[in-house]
Amino acid sequence: MTERATQSSSISPEILESLTRVTMPRGFESPEPDRVAVISGYATEVYRCQSLVLGTGAAGLRAACELKRRGRDVLVATGGMYMGTSACSGSDKQTIHTASTSRNGDNFEVLAKDLSSGGCMDEDVAYTEAVGSINAMAGLQYIGLELPEDNLGGVLRYQTDHDEYGRATSCGPRTSRLMVKVLLQETKRLGIPVLTNAAGVQILTTGEGENKKACGLVVATKSDDLNPYGLAVIECDELVIATGGPGEMYRDSAYPKKCYGSLGLALEAGITLSNLTESQFGIGTPRYTFPWNLSGTYVQVMPYVFSRDEDGNEYNFLSDYYRTTREMVSNVFRKGYQWPFHASRMLDFGSSLMDIAVHLEIKKGRKVYLDFLRNPLPVEGAEPFSLDNLDADVRSYLENNEALGELPIDRLIQMNPLAIELYRMNGIDVTKEPLLMTVNNQHMNGGIDIDHWGRTNLEGVYAVGEAASTHGVTRPGGSALTSGQVFGMRVAKHIEHKDRAWDESLGDSHLEAVAPLFAELEAAKAGDAAIKIAAMRDEIQARMSDSAGFICDGPSTANASGEATALWQTILGGGLALETENRSADYFMWKQMALSSAAVLTALDHYISNGGGSRGARMIYDETSTIVPQIRSGVLSDFAYRPEQDADKAKKIIVTYEGDKIVCSERTLRARDKSPVFFEKGWGGFLKGDIYES
Ligand SMILES: Cc1cc2nc3c(=O)[nH]c(=O)nc-3n(C[C@H](O)[C@H](O)[C@H](O)COP(=O)(O)OP(=O)(O)OC[C@H]3O[C@@H](n4cnc5c(N)ncnc54)[C@H](O)[C@@H]3O)c2cc1C
Repeated sequence: MTERATQSSSISPEILESLTRVTMPRGFESPEPDRVAVISGYATEVYRCQSLVLGTGAAGLRAACELKRRGRDVLVATGGMYMGTSACSGSDKQTIHTASTSRNGDNFEVLAKDLSSGGCMDEDVAYTEAVGSINAMAGLQYIGLELPEDNLGGVLRYQTDHDEYGRATSCGPRTSRLMVKVLLQETKRLGIPVLTNAAGVQILTTGEGENKKACGLVVATKSDDLNPYGLAVIECDELVIATGGPGEMYRDSAYPKKCYGSLGLALEAGITLSNLTESQFGIGTPRYTFPWNLSGTYVQVMPYVFSRDEDGNEYNFLSDYYRTTREMVSNVFRKGYQWPFHASRMLDFGSSLMDIAVHLEIKKGRKVYLDFLRNPLPVEGAEPFSLDNLDADVRSYLENNEALGELPIDRLIQMNPLAIELYRMNGIDVTKEPLLMTVNNQHMNGGIDIDHWGRTNLEGVYAVGEAASTHGVTRPGGSALTSGQVFGMRVAKHIEHKDRAWDESLGDSHLEAVAPLFAELEAAKAGDAAIKIAAMRDEIQARMSDSAGFICDGPSTANASGEATALWQTILGGGLALETENRSADYFMWKQMALSSAAVLTALDHYISNGGGSRGARMIYDETSTIVPQIRSGVLSDFAYRPEQDADKAKKIIVTYEGDKIVCSERTLRARDKSPVFFEKGWGGFLKGDIYES
C-alpha cells in the first residue's frame, strides 16, 4: 500500500492486500496417458476421459467441478493454467450480476428481459441465466467466495452498466480471480486431473451428417518427450469448450496476454457461431502497460483528463466537447457505470463523447492520461470545477459514499483503496503519476452458438463462458461471469443425464485425422517463404483495431474482410511458417485466430452491407445520416452514424465454415414458452428426464 492510501483508508493493509494479491493453489493431479499411439511415425500420447473441459477460467472450472460432483470422470486441459481473463483481468471492482436486489427480491421475468434488452439474445438463454444466477452465486459462496454482506446476511449491491436496479456485487478488483481461486481449490479437493500447456488444435469426430459426434481433441503441448511437435490426443465422450474470448484479436485490447479462445477450432469442426459482430469497447489502460478497465471509481472520482503531445504540451481536450465544467465532469463520472461505448450516448453531450475524444487525441499522436492528483480544469470560459456544482446524481453518489475529499486521489482512497493498490502492484503509482489510457476491446458477446443446456450443434460438444454466444448486443456489467457459472452447472446436469459411453468399436480409426496435422507441421517447418507468426499477429491485430473497432464504416470493413479472407486462404495454402518445432501451439493458435478474425469481419460486413446500424459498443459511420453528435465547438460530422434497424434485434447472424468458406446466414431468436408449468405436471417431466430433451 502507498503511504497516502494507508493513512487515509480505514481498512487494514492486510485485508486490502489479500483482496489484490491473490495467490493461487498449486499441486494438481496430472493425468496419466491411456496409451501411446504411433501416428505417421510419431509416438503420440493418448489420454482418455469421459468429460473433457478445455480451459481453466471461472467457467471451465465450474463445469469441471460440477461434472465431477455428478460422477463423471473429468479431465481438464488448458493452454495456460492461471491464465485467461478470469484469472488475470479486472476493473476497479469486478462485478458479478445476479437476481435478488435491493432487499426486495427480484422477478426472473424482469431480469431475463433486462439481460436481453439490447436484442439478439435468445429468450430461453436469458431466462436460464436469470433463474440460474442465484444458485450460481450460492455455489461459489459455499466453496468459499466471500461476497460482501450486511449484518443481516444481505449481499451488498450497486448499479452497473445497463442495470437500472443495482443487481451487481463484487469482492473488489480481483473478483474473478477469487472465483478461480475457490474453484481451483475445489478442483484440487475433488482430485480432478489437469493437463497444462495444452492448446486445443482440432476436435476429433466420428460419423457423418446427423450421426457426427465428437470423440476427442488433439492438443499441442510443450512436451517434446515423445514427438517434437508436442501433439497429443485426448479421447472423450463429451467436450466442454471453456476457452474464453479471442482477446489476442485486437491490438487495442484490455485482455491479458495469450487469450486465444477457440472460435477457429470450433468453425473447423463444423460448429456454428453467432453474434460475432457484438463486442464491448471502452476506456482502459493500454495493453503494453497493465491492461485494465477504467470504469467504476476510477472515473467516479473525476480525475483530470488530459493529453500530452511529444513536446510535453498538455491539453484539457475534453473542454472542446462539453459546454460547462459541470457537464464535462459529470459525464466523466458517468463512465463509471456507462462504461462501454454506445453511439446514442454521444448525443446530448453524453458520456460516450469521452471515448470519441480520447480516440481523436490518440490519432493526433498524443497520449491521454487520467490525473488523480489534480481536479479537472474548467471548460474554456466556463465555471471552475467544484464539488458543489455537479449533476444531482453525481453529487448524491459522492455524498452517500462520503467521498467529498479535496482531490480525486482523496476521493479514490475513500471509496476504493484497492483500486490504487492494484495499479501499484503492477508498477504504476497513481498517487504519484497520471495513468495512461486508451479505448480497448474488452469482451466478445458472441461466440459458439449454444442452446439453453449449453449444447452446440455438434453432438457431444458444449460451450460455456465467454467462448459461448450467450449475450445479446448489450449485457449488464457482471453478467459475463454469471453466465459462465450458470452454464457450468447446466452442462454438467445435461451431461450426467446423457451418460454417454465410449464406443469401443472405434479402435484407433479416429486417430487417422491426426496424421495430416503432423504433415502440416512438417511442411510449415520446411517452408521458408511463408509468413512468420509475429508478422501475422501484428497484421491481424492492426486490421481488427483499425477496421472493426468501436468506430466502423461499410467500405473499410468490407475491405478488411477481403484482406482477412485472403490471409486465411494463404494460410490454407501453406503460407504460415513454423519457425521451431516447439512452437506448434503458437502456430495453431494464430492459424485459428486468422480464421476467427476473418469470421468476425465477414459477419460485420454482412451486417453493415445489409443496412445494419450502430448498436452495442459499435458506431457505424454513415455520411448520409442526419444523426450527428454535437460538441461545444461544433458538430462531429465524421461521426454521423447510422441507427440500428429494429428488425435486426430479433435475429442472430450465424457463421459457419463450409468447404473453406465462411458463410453467414440469419436466424430468428429462440422464443420461450411463457405459459405456467404446474407443479405436478412439471415434476413428472423432471423425474423422467424430459427436461433434458427440450
Ligand atoms: C479488463 C476486463 C474486465 C472485465 N470485467 C468484468 C466484470 O466486471 N464482470 C464480468 O462479468 N465480466 C468481466 N469481464 C469479462 C469476464 O472477465 C470474462 O468474460 C470471463 O472471465 C471469461 O471467463 P471464461 O472462463 O469464459 O474464460 P477465461 O477466464 O478467459 O479462461 C479461458 C481459459 O481457456 C484457456 N484457453 C484459451 N484458449 C485456449 C485454447 N485454444 N486451448 C486451450 N486452452 C485455452 C486459457 O488459458 C484460460 O485458462 C472483464 C473482462 C476484462 C478483459
